[in-house]
Parts: sequence; structure tokens; C-alpha cells
Amino acid sequence: MARINDHYLKLAAGYLFPEIGRRVTAFQQANPKADVIRLGIGDVVLPLTPSVRQAMHDAVDEMAIAKSFKGYGPERGYDFLRDAIAKHDFRSRGVEIDPNEIFVSDGSKCDSGNIQEIFAEDATIAIPDPVYPVYVDTNVMAGRTGAAGSDGRYAGIQYLPCTEASGFLPALPKRPVDLVYLCSPNNPTGAVATKAELSKWVDWARANDAIILFDAAYERFVTDPALPRSIFEIEGARECAIEFRSYSKTAGFTGIRCAYVVVPKELTGRDANGGSVAVSKLWDRRTSTKFNGVSYPVQRAAEAIYSEAGSKEVQANIDYYMANAAIIRAGLAKAGFHTFGGVNAPYVWMKTPGGLDSWQFFDALLSKANVVGTPGSGFGSCGEGYLRLSSFGFREKVEEAVGRIVQHFA
Ligand SMILES: *Cc1c(COP(=O)(O)O)cnc(C)c1O
Repeated sequence: MARINDHYLKLAAGYLFPEIGRRVTAFQQANPKADVIRLGIGDVVLPLTPSVRQAMHDAVDEMAIAKSFKGYGPERGYDFLRDAIAKHDFRSRGVEIDPNEIFVSDGSKCDSGNIQEIFAEDATIAIPDPVYPVYVDTNVMAGRTGAAGSDGRYAGIQYLPCTEASGFLPALPKRPVDLVYLCSPNNPTGAVATKAELSKWVDWARANDAIILFDAAYERFVTDPALPRSIFEIEGARECAIEFRSYSKTAGFTGIRCAYVVVPKELTGRDANGGSVAVSKLWDRRTSTKFNGVSYPVQRAAEAIYSEAGSKEVQANIDYYMANAAIIRAGLAKAGFHTFGGVNAPYVWMKTPGGLDSWQFFDALLSKANVVGTPGSGFGSCGEGYLRLSSFGFREKVEEAVGRIVQHFA
């Protein structure tokens, strides 16, 4: 038998979403008449907008004609999309990003999971708790950790607790690290770092020769104009940060697949001899070796969200989800729950009532209100005692779910 990668065996066996699925299926089998509403998994529900659909259709038609057919595209993405990104996502907010610093990809899950490959096997890392599980798991797979303890935490990772006392924002690492992951607006807590908060991180990273891996998958959900949408709005971030953006939640691309990474030219790491190496060179090398680019129709579809009509359509969908979030927040407050997030992020983070743990409350919510949430403990040990509700649902369903929660728990 061939030797396998033993590090995979350290991963917690029951990944969060399969376990939720198992419990929901068991409940439905026992209660076939129950109308279960899912506000659990963070997937969008609104269909593609007209501009996106038209752009994709047109691109498919181009591909069906010999003179405009396209085979392999550039690994880093077509210029038309990278130019549109530089102009609309950054220059419009006063940030200069060269299109050559942008790497178009098929998703931020892959990007935020793959980025660790270009750093040393013994690079040290800090990760907020709770957070999107991809950062921890991919570092476990790569062998940067020991085994998990009884609290689910892996030896070798410096966890940054995000608690109610700190507004669910992580404090600076106590010990120096090479890499730190940040996610703002946050999945799962909905917390958003202010400019002052991010400046603190950038100053720390520059003083400590660390790199910030900044996941901005939810930047479009920021409604307060004073809040940063990109780490590159912060002075000095070009020397210490990589940013991940995705069209998944922004434009309903979870099934279409398109995202991008920004790696500034100034960003460097050190080699075994202490020499300085441009990080973008390594990411470029990795991308061109392991990736053959995002399909042409998908990149045209992504470009369409920057047109005048496309941008309005996408904003309307975001407004729809954010109105859902406001309904969830208001309803939960009426039922006496303590809630967080849901103002500049599509997730509402709620404290479980009566000292129930996350899974106990998940079960109570499912059996009494027939509503599915996501147990906070699935995002890290500091998520224990919380539950995440997603605003990615149809209005009637969200209203119905909130009505039932008020009815059963108020
Ligand atoms: C949904 C999500 C992503 C996006 O993943 P894609 O692969 O682009 O669909 C990235 N980061 C976080 C924190 C997310 O919740």
C-alpha cells in the first residue's frame, strides 16, 4: 500500500456541514411534515443578474465561432477583467493596484487554502478563533501543526480569540509569527475591522516581518462608508499583505466560480539564506504551474458586474440580503437574544440562550422552530455558545423563520 499524507488524519473527522446535514435529515425523517427553513450554510439564493447572464451568453457565442474562439487563456486572467478590477474595486476608492498584481482564480476557498504552499513548511501562523475553517485545515494538511487537543485546537497554531469583550476582533499575536489570517467582514461573527484596527495590524506586521493574509470575501456587504473594504486602503499594507476577493457572495457566483488574489510587487519574504524574494514571483510560478485559468465566459460574466447596469443589479441583491439581516436582527432582539454582526456583513451571530452549548441550541432551534443555523463551535472553540444565522435566503423564508423563533423563544 502506498504511504498516505498522515497529516490528513489529524483533521477533525466530522466536518461541520456534513454533521448539520446528518442532523437535519434525521429530523426530517422523524418529522416528515415539518417545513424546515435553512439559514445555515452560507450559500446565496438569488439568481444571476441580467447583465451577468447576457455577458456569459455572448461569450459562449463568441466561443462557437472560429475567428473569436478562445482556447487556454492567460493563467493570471484576461486583461479586460484585471483592468476592470483595478479600476472599479481599487482606483475608485483611492487605491492603486497594478493589474499585474491581480491573479484571477476560480475561488477564494482555493486561494486562501493554497496560499500557504508558497511559505516555508515551518512557517509559524496565527489564526483568529472562530473563523472560516479553511485556514486551519489547510495548514494541518501541510504539516504545520501537531495533533488536535480535546478542545479541537491544533498544537503549533497561535489562536487569536475573538470574544464579545473585544467586539469579536482578534488581538495582536503575543508571540511573533510569519503569517496571520484575517477575515473582515468576518465569517462567522459579522464583525468588521475599522481603519484604525487594520492600521494596528499593518504596523505590527511591518515591525515584525509578518505577512497578513486578508480575506475580503464579504467586502461588498460593508454599508458604513467609513469602514475599509480592502486592506490596501491602509498605509503600508502593500509591504505586508495579500488580499483575497471573491464574486461568490458579491454577485451570486458560488456556482459560477470566480475570485482573485492581490499580491503587491513590494511584498517580500526571506529565503533560507536570509535573502529577500518577491512573494508575487512565487505565487505567479505556482499559478502558472498548477492552474490553467478561469473560463472565458466566466471572466466575461465577472466583468459585467462592473458595468453601470451590472453594478446596480449586484447592489440590489446585496441590499436584499442586508434587509434580511436587519429582519433577523430585529426579530432576535424582540425574542430577547443577544445578537452581533448583520450590519456590515451578511451573518448574524447570536448568543445561545440559557447556557446551552452551540449544538444543544442548534437542536432546540431545529426541533422547536424547524430552523437550521450553524453552531458557532464549528468555527473554533471560541465560537462555543454562539450560533450563526445567514441572511442568504428568500425574504418570505427569512420572515417565517424569524416569526417562528420569536414564537418559540420569546
Ligand atoms: C464564502 C467564502 C469565501 C469564498 O469562497 P469561494 O471559493 O470564492 O466561493 C472565502 N472566504 C470566506 C470567509 C467565505 O465565507
